[in-house]
Formats: sequence, C-alpha cells, structure tokens
Amino acid sequence: MATGSLTIDLDALARNWTELDRASAQGVETGAVVKADGYGLGAARVARTLVKAGARRFFVAIAEEGATIRAALGRGPEICVFSGHMPGDADMIGDLDLVPMLNSVEQLTRHMEALPGHPFGIQLDTGMNRLGMEPAEWAAVRDIALKAGPRLIMSHLACSDEDTTGFNEKQLTCFREMTEGTGVPRSLAATGGILLGPDYHFEVTRPGVGLYGGRPFTDPAPVVALSLPVIQSREVEPGESIGYGCTWTAEERRTVATVAAGYADGILRYLTNRGTLWFDGHPCPILGRVSMDLITADITDLPRTPDALDLLGPDQGVDEVADAAQTIGYEVLTNLGARYARRYTGGAGS
Ligand SMILES: *Cc1c(COP(=O)(O)O)cnc(C)c1O
Repeated sequence: MATGSLTIDLDALARNWTELDRASAQGVETGAVVKADGYGLGAARVARTLVKAGARRFFVAIAEEGATIRAALGRGPEICVFSGHMPGDADMIGDLDLVPMLNSVEQLTRHMEALPGHPFGIQLDTGMNRLGMEPAEWAAVRDIALKAGPRLIMSHLACSDEDTTGFNEKQLTCFREMTEGTGVPRSLAATGGILLGPDYHFEVTRPGVGLYGGRPFTDPAPVVALSLPVIQSREVEPGESIGYGCTWTAEERRTVATVAAGYADGILRYLTNRGTLWFDGHPCPILGRVSMDLITADITDLPRTPDALDLLGPDQGVDEVADAAQTIGYEVLTNLGARYARRYTGGAGS
C-alpha cells in the first residue's frame, strides 16, 4: 500500500485536555476548540474523546463545523461559533442549537430578528482588529444585549505566545473594562492565554493547539504520528543529482529512499532540502525537492532500507517540522492530507 499512515492517539489528546484543565484556576471551565476539522485530526472523533475527558463547551469557526460536532455529540454539549450569525445560518443555528458569538451590531440585529430568544454569545475586539465589537459599538448595544442574556462574552489575544510589548496586559485591561459588572461568564484565553496565568482565565478557557500537541503548550503528549512507506531505494554516485530542478547533488556516494507522500498530502514544499524524516531515532535529511506525491531522503546511515520513514512521531513533533518549514504547528496540522490512511488509537471506543 502506497499511502502514508496517520495515527492519532486519542488518549494523548484526552491527557492534553486534562493537563490544560489542571493548568486553569479552580472553578474555571475548560472548553475545547475543534475548528478546521479538529485541527486536521477529525473533528467528530476529537470531540467525542474530549466529551469523555470532561469538556462541555466546544468552539468552531463556522456554523457548518458546528453541525458536524452536533451530529457527533448529540444534544447537550454547548457549541459556540466564532464567526457569529452569518446570512443563511439561522436554520442551522436554530435547529442544531448552536451558539453564535455575535461580532457586530449587524449580527446582533440579524440574530434577534431571525431567532428571538435563541442563545447567543458576544465577541469583543480588545485590540486585535479581527473579530468582535469594538468598545464604542459595544457601549451602544450593551444594555440591549445584556437584557437578552448572553451565554458568554469573549475576546481573543493577539500575542499570547510571543508578547514583547505588554500587549497582553493592554488587552486584559480593555477586556475587563468592557465586561465589568455584566455578570456574564467571560473567556479570553486560548492555549497561550492559559499559560499566562489565572488573571487571564476568567470563567471559561478555549484551548486549541495545545490539545493536539502543539506549542505554546510545553511537554504535550504527542497526538499525531505520520509514517510514509518507502517505495524504493537507490545508490546515488558523486556528481549525480536528485529530483526536480536537480537542486541537490551528491558529493559522495549516498543511499536514497523515495517515500510515498508529497505536497499534495500537505507536506510543505518548503521542506525541500531542509526537512528531515526519521527512522527509529536516526535522522534522514530530505534531499532534493518535495514533489507532489514523493519525497527523497538520505538513508545512507541506516543499516538497511526500512519499510517506512516517519515525518511525525517520537523523534519529531509538529513544531519541529514547523520550524524546518518556517511556519507554525497549526499550519502543519491543518495541512495533513486526505490521502493518508487514518488510524485512531485509544479513546476507549470513542
Ligand atoms: C483558534 C482560536 C482559539 C484556539 O487557539 P489556540 O491557540 O489553538 O489554543 C481560541 N479562540 C479563538 C477566537 C480562536 O480563533
């Protein structure tokens, strides 16, 4: 079989949720962000596992993702939609009991007209200039919105994992000013915000990437392993080159393995001559360009040609791959391709 195999450890996922839950102050509810198909790992399996771990509130980017989560979980758990109430969403929000995080006066009006009495939350912009009501806008509709009883008021931090200018504190102050005295549960922290400490936790936290084993969560349980089958191997003599564009030329005799995966499987082409595949603790540098369906790697130092090489696993996590590709773990995860054979382990039958 010439497809890579992607193994997702649901027990590790549950452990990461529990660790992030423990990292929050007592009495703080830990939610779970399962947008973008559970960061590429399969939203339904992820959500069912996290319900068993204790999560009761889920966050998605768009209503359609909320529909997938509702189908997987049934009634009960709360599903919040970051993009709020968009035109055409009313049926889905109403029928599937989704909670839109309303981002503007326009969305608030749309929601109250289309689904009067239906739950909603409010998203405030505290400086990121991306989503949510700004202070003046919020001040104008605050009384009307509060009278209708929002389930949650939230905002999002721009620099929780790399603050060098005190921006987190500015946003924290802004969030406090905008929400003081509302009596409504509040949420400001994603994974990075949880790690900033209890000032940032409020009543509900929203970890995403940390659940899936990514930074800034330190020492996460590794959730994803990706193993790529070797199709063939060959000796490359000094002066010979490898792959499209002949971007790598051998100075000495090397043994090169060709594995069955490429950029069509979400392995970033930027890993060309930069990334590393692994076999049982041994690094196998990628030689030549990552092509659509194939990657070539140096296995000269291995005692024999292995059946497969690993991109993700105990030797290399999503963040190491991201560093080599000059991106972030989030992008490595959400790029994981559809062509892999997916296998879920653990999770006690979820
Ligand atoms: C994606 C997202 C999260 C989760 O962030 P992580 O950094 O993955 O923990 C939380 N809140 C909002 C608004 C988001 O867009």
